Amino acid sequence: MRPFVVAIIGSGPSGIYAAEALCQQSDVAVSVAVLDRLPVPFGLVRYGVAPDHPSIRSIRNTLERTLSRPEVRFYGDVTVGRDVTIDELRGSVDAVIYAYGAASDRRLDIPGEDLDGSIAAAELVAWYCGHPDVHPDLESPAITGPEPAGIDAEQASRLVASTRSAVVVGVGNVALDVVRILIRPTADLARTDMAEEVLTALDDRAVTDVHVLGRRGPANTSFTTKELRELGDLDGVDIVIDPFDHAIDPATIGKVAARNLAVLSGWAERSDGTAARRIHFHFWTRPVRLAGEGRVASVITERTMIDSTGRLLSAGPGPELPADLVVRSVGYRGTALPGVPYDPEIARVPHAEGRVIRDGSFATGEYVTGWIKRGPTGVIGTNKSDAVETVTSLLTDIADGELVADHDRDDLDRLLADRGIHPLGMPAWRLIDAAEIERGHRQGRDRATLAHRSDLLAAAADPDPDPPD
Ligand SMILES: Cc1cc2nc3c(=O)[nH]c(=O)nc-3n(C[C@H](O)[C@H](O)[C@H](O)COP(=O)(O)OP(=O)(O)OC[C@H]3O[C@@H](n4cnc5c(N)ncnc54)[C@H](O)[C@@H]3O)c2cc1C
Repeated sequence: MRPFVVAIIGSGPSGIYAAEALCQQSDVAVSVAVLDRLPVPFGLVRYGVAPDHPSIRSIRNTLERTLSRPEVRFYGDVTVGRDVTIDELRGSVDAVIYAYGAASDRRLDIPGEDLDGSIAAAELVAWYCGHPDVHPDLESPAITGPEPAGIDAEQASRLVASTRSAVVVGVGNVALDVVRILIRPTADLARTDMAEEVLTALDDRAVTDVHVLGRRGPANTSFTTKELRELGDLDGVDIVIDPFDHAIDPATIGKVAARNLAVLSGWAERSDGTAARRIHFHFWTRPVRLAGEGRVASVITERTMIDSTGRLLSAGPGPELPADLVVRSVGYRGTALPGVPYDPEIARVPHAEGRVIRDGSFATGEYVTGWIKRGPTGVIGTNKSDAVETVTSLLTDIADGELVADHDRDDLDRLLADRGIHPLGMPAWRLIDAAEIERGHRQGRDRATLAHRSDLLAAAADPDPDPPD
């Protein structure tokens, strides 16, 4: 029987879990093409998960196994919406699954937000993970990617190296990642897979204080407790929590929030702030203005409270916090991909159970999964059940005769060849992988990330992996 050809746009966890779900069923023979605009697969598992969390990053080994299956082909370095249009892609496969993530960021919308030194967590994360968008020699602008594509590696290095006091706005796990990377001793980070130039900039840093702002109380954080606790284990770092902030929290709290509150309360009791480096938590505090001449110098805050209906109100002026760097970590945001339905209100692709809704009706053969389907929430594993839901809808539509296998698996190759596009497949990834491992071993660590697209392409083209220094 002719295999049903599915193109998945995005090789992050959601795209690869969708490929896995397609391969694991036996009702329909499938041929799966996973496309990514980057030369390498794995999405935020490579370019988001913190480098000092190697066990979480190692999820890519599982993802790699799926991409290596005979029914699956990886097409790296192909930007859908630029190299091929959605219509062209849809015309060369039997169904498409959008899994292109939500790489942009939400803004604070306060005065001073555009000062030098004020950046999005998405940008800082992309920098320290060695994302080619942020590391120079990008040949063409991103269609989706860290936005605003404001900073490049040089600026990020300069900002980090010249920061003594940083303010991180937001109380989720990404904020914790940023805090750790900013304050953690270089000796710890030198063991990670960070690119050399990132390590050099971090080595130059003189950060003594990182302030974390939460506009609600210590019982309203969205940290996972394990990640929160980890801050308490950092060598030479004290955690300081303002007793005023910590005192009363009127909100009803769930289990995780209660555990987090217990951790924060423990720190509040024992910390004295005498260590050389400090993390300060300021709850019921939000930024109202970033102040500075040219570059941010401080964050003007106000205290907050909630009224009886749970609405957040101002409770008067808060502290002015010194800051050479302000990182907003208030959420990622999906962006529109040309030709794909998009609801700007919710910054997602509209759908029902993974079936894309186009102009008010189900779009035949179009599906969505991952962050661009449900928004930037949940852990990596959440994408698995999400992908299963989407693939179940697709398989149901095939069973119901809504979709038929009409294409050959080579139709996509022909389309790309016609456009002069030369995708990088899994053999290229294996060469890049080997080059990064070899480079890391030479430096006494497991891996050293190649941050520049040109280095990735050079490694992919080299049958004897040994990329230039
Ligand atoms: C900073 C950070 C840290 C995180 N840490 C953890 C953690 O420790 N543990 C955990 O469980 N979860 C973590 N997460 C969450 C986890 O990364 C996400 O749940 C997951 O990556 C979402 O998967 P996705 O496939 O929807 O999107 P992504 O992982 O973003 O993948 C989308 C892919 O689509 C590609 N793409 C985009 N546009 C195009 C295009 N036009 N053409 C072709 N390809 C395109 C992108 O290059 C990317 O590879 C973290 C997230 C962030 C942001």
